[in-house]
Amino acid sequence: MSTKKRNWKPQTALVHGGTLRSGFGETSEAIYLTQGYVYETAQAAEARFKGEEPGFIYSRYANPTVDMFEKRMCALEGAEDARATASGMAAVTAALLCSVKAGDHIVAARALFGSCRWVVETLAPRYGIEATLVDGTDIANWEKAVRPNTKLFFLESPTNPTLEVVDITAVAALANSIGARLVVDNVFATPLQQKPLQLGAHIVVYSATKHIDGQGRCLGGVILSDKEWIDKNLHDYFRHTGPSLSPFNAWTLLKGLETLPLRVRQQTESAGKIADFLAEQPRIARVIYPGRTDHPQADIVRKQMSGGSTLICLDVKGGKQAAFALQNALDIVLISNNLGDAKSLITHPATTTHKNLTDEARAELGIGPGTLRLSVGLEDTDDLLEDIAQALQAAK
Ligand SMILES: *Cc1c(COP(=O)(O)O)cnc(C)c1O
Repeated sequence: MSTKKRNWKPQTALVHGGTLRSGFGETSEAIYLTQGYVYETAQAAEARFKGEEPGFIYSRYANPTVDMFEKRMCALEGAEDARATASGMAAVTAALLCSVKAGDHIVAARALFGSCRWVVETLAPRYGIEATLVDGTDIANWEKAVRPNTKLFFLESPTNPTLEVVDITAVAALANSIGARLVVDNVFATPLQQKPLQLGAHIVVYSATKHIDGQGRCLGGVILSDKEWIDKNLHDYFRHTGPSLSPFNAWTLLKGLETLPLRVRQQTESAGKIADFLAEQPRIARVIYPGRTDHPQADIVRKQMSGGSTLICLDVKGGKQAAFALQNALDIVLISNNLGDAKSLITHPATTTHKNLTDEARAELGIGPGTLRLSVGLEDTDDLLEDIAQALQAAK
């Protein structure tokens, strides 16, 4: 068991961080598929429930395999504590709802993952929690939305699907100035390319379903923050509402973390080349890619991200029909709404992930009928370029 704080670089932490080795000395992390734990004596059970003795009580609260995943994520993120959840949405919902009560106000960037937007815009108000959605790319909009009862800021950067970038440092400073907390959904950046806690954010959430698993196998999520916030706000909420991650999925995600840097590096490198190629194609009206100098917020990208992205947003000339034709003509790239996967995936947000928004709300986010989101996988870059080139030809 290695609970020592070590000065490991990310790649080492992702292979060894948080490991709890059993008496059998297994090399690979063990899967503890158990709901509960037994005690030597009634006195031991009493002591554990009182918190006088360390140890596990019930897997809704904590489990050794899940604990390894949480500790490994803490080591990577530079966070004091974490709670792993059954999905990314369980992480977002818990992080938001555990920190506010009726009468409080949330300010959120309007460019949010569809379900996140529903939680803020539709669910929270049912419980008396007001929310204001703003264009997050201008700090003046955040300032204008602040009210005396604003307790929480929430943003995603880069955003889904148009890869807008929000200045995390500026929003965090504003949150601090009014005693509010900033929650950042860091899925698109991955924990490797952006460190929200170092930029001043208070809480970071992930859908581990995306790059952390990265191989399309299971759902998962995680919430990371300082120990004080977790103890005070999340601890009881988490125990009593039960969004807990299954030990089997925690194990799958632990295995995903071992190869995360290799995958993200390769996928980002490929995505950069594909974005440059797409930008030169006459049938593509616009390419948004955080690694390109023509990205609308290229200065902020340089300031707060260490790489490009594994995702590309593109607009095909000719609207929905042309976008569908391009998707259908692709051979290697599959039509799917997941992202961060080993397989390259393409999706048409207007008719899938963002179909529930009004035309007006979609237009505000820059999602047009010809907009596509491409998640670049681990296939050979030249094969992908060839596939995209042939599809552009075939879809003419
Ligand atoms: C996928 C995703 C979520 C939700 O995660 P699930 O694991 O599908 O519940 C939240 N935020 C962002 C940015 C996502 O991409």
